[in-house]
Amino acid sequence: MKKNDIILAASFVVVAIICAIFIQVVIKKAGNVAVVSIDGQVYKELSLNVNTKLEIDAAVGADGYNFIVIENGYAYMKDADCTDKICVHQGRISKVGETIVCLPHKVVIEIKGKNTELDAVVQ
Ligand SMILES: [Zn+2]
Repeated sequence: MKKNDIILAASFVVVAIICAIFIQVVIKKAGNVAVVSIDGQVYKELSLNVNTKLEIDAAVGADGYNFIVIENGYAYMKDADCTDKICVHQGRISKVGETIVCLPHKVVIEIKGKNTELDAVVQ
């Protein structure tokens, strides 16, 4: 009887640890942001969890028009009036470290985790 109690208690601990790891993984994934930079300066950080649209043009320092969309955890360049349109064709990004670059407009979208974001503040 006592042995069973210990086994029961131990299994509760194991379940609790698994839950804690699972929650951390989910939170870490949810913490990803799309960092939009214009000419090397961070312009805006957009959470990948919130579907949103961001228009960039000469008024905010870019050399042209870019239309960034955050949708279902992905970031992509829906439209741009640059000459090469490479940024538009780069498709959707969602993983930490992935980037979309619009070279003619000096606009960069980079996916970062919440942890690396903190590191950037320290720097
Ligand atoms: Zn472009």
